[in-house]
Amino acid sequence: MRALYPGSFDPLTNGHMDLIERAVALFGTVTVAVLSNPNKKPAFSVDQRIDQIQAATRHLDGIDVVSFDGLTVHCAATHQADLILRGLRAMSDFEYELQIAHTNRSLAADLETVFLATSTRHSFLSSSVVKEVARFGGSVDHMVPKEVAKDLNRLFNSAFPPR
Ligand code: ADP
Repeated sequence: MRALYPGSFDPLTNGHMDLIERAVALFGTVTVAVLSNPNKKPAFSVDQRIDQIQAATRHLDGIDVVSFDGLTVHCAATHQADLILRGLRAMSDFEYELQIAHTNRSLAADLETVFLATSTRHSFLSSSVVKEVARFGGSVDHMVPKEVAKDLNRLFNSAFPPR
């Protein structure tokens, strides 16, 4: 089965990675679909985000990384995905995610959305929090894959001097 995992991934965090690793074990193939939405003013370009995800998932079989704009259901059809994968961190994610899942089901009745609950240790993580910490010079090494940490340090020039 192929799961489509759509998102902004601006940037990829260890929470996203946890979901990707668990989903590939469950479904066999995961297409990570990076949303190209110029209105969101992303920190990283789509190409940078794709490079980061490819580098961080190199050790896994069954991962494709693509970009998309427009509707997720169209992206799922293009890549022949069997289901949409989304993550749930807390109740605060739930209302928004449920609304999107219902909308997508009204557009593509055969396409299920499957939610995986985040691992507890990643439940506080979001791309915005990671960017905020990096912007003010905090270490993000425990929050993101090493390729992403390097890019964040370069972007915000916040690398800690080696101890
Ligand atoms: P979007 O802008 O579409 O919400 P994100 O990149 O923020 O894109 O998130 C993509 C998906 O990954 C969403 O389903 C989100 O709930 C999930 N996600 C985000 N952070 C985590 C995390 N720490 N653990 C598990 N899932 C997460």
